[in-house]
Amino acid sequence: MDDKIKELKKIIDESNNIVFFGGAGVSTESGIPDFRSANGIYNMNLGRTVSPEEMISHSFYMRHTEDFYEFYKDKLIYENAQPNNCHKALAELERQGKVKAVVTQNIDGLHQKAGSKVVWELHGSTLRNYCERCHAFYGVEKVLESKGVPYCDKCGGRIKPDVVLYEEGLDSDVIDGAVRAIRSSFTRQRD
Ligand SMILES: [Zn+2]
Repeated sequence: MDDKIKELKKIIDESNNIVFFGGAGVSTESGIPDFRSANGIYNMNLGRTVSPEEMISHSFYMRHTEDFYEFYKDKLIYENAQPNNCHKALAELERQGKVKAVVTQNIDGLHQKAGSKVVWELHGSTLRNYCERCHAFYGVEKVLESKGVPYCDKCGGRIKPDVVLYEEGLDSDVIDGAVRAIRSSFTRQRD
């Protein structure tokens, strides 16, 4: 076994208060590429090539909602992705009482799909979507089924993914939860 892996195994064996902080690398094995690797797309409305970061910014969503959704559905939703060994191991370590929380920048919901219960999703989730007007909840299917921009069945309002776009602030409850989890991981639990 590689020395680094041995060392990690030792740390995990001796810990019972682990908080895992992860990002895109956790889900690449599940076939979800880091969206930043996506190429810019020429946008007819703007008359120039738009970067992925600009494409999923708040202002772009507001001004070019149709183009936003075209990119978003194509590059950020992976409805058939399955948890990989990393997600599964973290869920198992939570069951064993070793991992207390997962803090993730991913928006794919794969930690929960693997069985993790305490997951702080800093950037939200593509699996949750809300009507901007009446706040009705919609799953990812609604977004995928809709041609272009998804609208609410109840009130006709526009549906927005519960994903933190560029220019938007992180949810304060989620930050609080993540900070609390990380802070408490510095206190060794005695059993
Ligand atoms: Zn509505």
